[in-house]
Order: sequence, then C-alpha cells, then structure tokens
Amino acid sequence: MIPFLDLKTINKQYQAELKEACARVIDSGWYIMGKELDAFETEFADFCGSKKAIGLGNGLDALALSLRAWKELGKLKDGDEVIVPANTYIASILAISENNLTPILVEPDPATFNLTAEGIAKSITPKTKVILPVHLYGQISPMRDIMQLAKQHNLLVLEDCAQAHGAMIDGKMAGTWGDAGAFSFYPGKNLGALGDAGAVTTDDDKMFDVLSALRNYGSHEKYKNKFKGVNSRLDEIQAAMLRVKLRHLQSETQARQQAAKLYLNGINNPLITLPEVVNSEGHVWHLFVIKVNERDKLMSYLKENSIQTLIHYPIPPHKQDAYNEFREMVLPKTELMHEQVLSLPMSPVISSHELCKIIEILNDWKN
Ligand SMILES: *Cc1c(COP(=O)(O)O)cnc(C)c1O
Repeated sequence: MIPFLDLKTINKQYQAELKEACARVIDSGWYIMGKELDAFETEFADFCGSKKAIGLGNGLDALALSLRAWKELGKLKDGDEVIVPANTYIASILAISENNLTPILVEPDPATFNLTAEGIAKSITPKTKVILPVHLYGQISPMRDIMQLAKQHNLLVLEDCAQAHGAMIDGKMAGTWGDAGAFSFYPGKNLGALGDAGAVTTDDDKMFDVLSALRNYGSHEKYKNKFKGVNSRLDEIQAAMLRVKLRHLQSETQARQQAAKLYLNGINNPLITLPEVVNSEGHVWHLFVIKVNERDKLMSYLKENSIQTLIHYPIPPHKQDAYNEFREMVLPKTELMHEQVLSLPMSPVISSHELCKIIEILNDWKN
C-alpha cells in the first residue's frame, strides 16, 4: 500500500535529533513557557520574516485568539463580519463564531481553491471588519490584491497559514502579508510537531502583548489577570521538536515541490483536472488535490491498486450540522468542489518510484 502520508518515516529521519532535544527538555526540569519556546518563537519569526511569533496550543487557537486579541484591543466587536472561504477546513470558521463574529462564506476560485480579491470585494458590507484568507492545500492566496482591497476598506487581515508554512508570493511569505498569520503545527502539517501546537506571526507589538496574556489565563504577571484568558500554551517538548523540524522544513518543502512536479508533468488522463499553480514558489504542496467527476469511483480504483487517497473535505462547512444557520445557503462552486476533490499521496518522503506508479495507474483509469 502506498500510504497517503507516512508520519513515522518522516520523523524517523530526525530520530537522533528529536531524541536529543527531548532528553534536553526532560533534563531541564522546566516544561512550560521556557527556553525552548522562546527560542522556537524567535526562530519561527525569523524563518517567516515577521517581527514576532507567539506559540500557542494549536492552530484553531491561533485563529481564534488572534480575533479575540483584536476584540480586546477594541478593533472588533460582536456581530462584525469576517470574510472567509466557503471551502475551508471548518476550524477557520469555528474561530470566527467562537468570538461572536459573523462568518461570511465566500466562494473561492475553483481552479486555485483560494479566494480572489474580486470575490471578496463583492461580499464587503459596512459591517465587514476582517478578511480571513486561507492558503488552502499549501498555495498562498493573491495577497497583494487582497491587501490592497483591505487597505481601501480599512479591514484587518488574518491569514490562515495552517497549510502553508513557507509559501511565498512576490518574495514575501505567508503570515507576513496580513496583520497576523495563524499557523498549526498539527503532526500532519508541513511543519508538524509530535502533538498539538500552533503559533501566530505578527509585526504588531500590541497584538503580541495581548496574545501573550490571552494564552496564559489572561495574565502577563502571575496572579494578575488583565483578560478572561485561556490556557493555550505551546509546551517545551513540542517547542523542542519543532526547532528540530524547522531546520529541515526547507528541504522537505523542496521534496514536496519535486513530487508535485512529477505529478503535474506525468498525469495526462483527460478525466482528471490538475491543480492550478499560480507561482511555483507560492505552493508548498501540503496536499496535491485533483478534481474528477466520478471521484468516488476513482478513489476505489486507486484503493484496489494499493494507493491510499483522502478527501479534503467531504462535506462543506455550510452543510455541517454545527452550522444549521447556513443550511439553506447555495454555494454551487463550493458544493461541486466537495464532490470532485481527491487528495493524492503527498509527503516529503514519497519516492519517485511510488510517484511513477501512481501516475501510471491514474493514466490507465477509464471511467
Ligand atoms: C489544521 C487546520 C487548522 C486547525 O489547526 P489545529 O492545529 O488542528 O487546531 C485551521 N485551519 C486550517 C486550514 C487547517 O488545515
């Protein structure tokens, strides 16, 4: 079986470094908010090219606490509208509703799976306060156009970078275009911890300051609580794991880009639509997502041929029970996408032999 993603093999490459880092934390006797986190925050901010990075418990909190920080800073209030792609992973939308803000679901460009400035512009109302672009599957959104639009309308921009560590456009990385970038380091992400973790990048000292309290019960100083905060800290062990993984991120990204190139050049079955690449440095290939009409048939055919695939995502957020209020919405592009998308095996450790086999089997598929 060619697995969709083999985390064990990915992390085994760095076994010695990971074990050493883990031992260092165990021996230090200090497990929460210490040197490893400080060092990781600095290293991750440097990697992205942002002034600050702040470690948090997970990616959902990175999104939700960013919005919360803007509320605490008086930039947002209950009921304000946040523009978000309708085809995103539900976490982007949960972060909005958790803050009593109103998600405005906008259809993406079906070719790139991302929002466009034109699509966003049509949905702006006097209540719109935030644009939340999601760099889906690893491809950065058209950030120059989006930032220009945001400036015109005086809107905040929160980038959901959970799938796009290191993706660039016009030489500038995901997480440094908007007012803040929210990252997840869930184990399966391009930069993955060995457990849950997340971070926010920002150039805004005030926002950084509020976030540093929010993640720790709303407190900057022990037993003095400025905000009704939460407990969402990135622990020392995970920070140490992430410092190791960050050193290898660039070469892992190159391996993903190499794999994507083989797929893009090799797959020529007319029944399959390949993903559109806007610029080659802009895509870090968290997922390689094709579109096909008889998706479920292709998925079973690949399974019969020992190739594991997944669907990202089978049900759009507005059709989820959790969002009954959106049930009647009609979003034809998004709904069609959810019927057609299929994610092929993609990882930094997939071999060219495996890729060639997948390409051959895909090209042999007849409906
Ligand atoms: C994974 C993911 C999240 C949530 O990150 P967690 O660390 O799992 O909470 C948010 N948005 C997108 C687009 C994601 O892929």
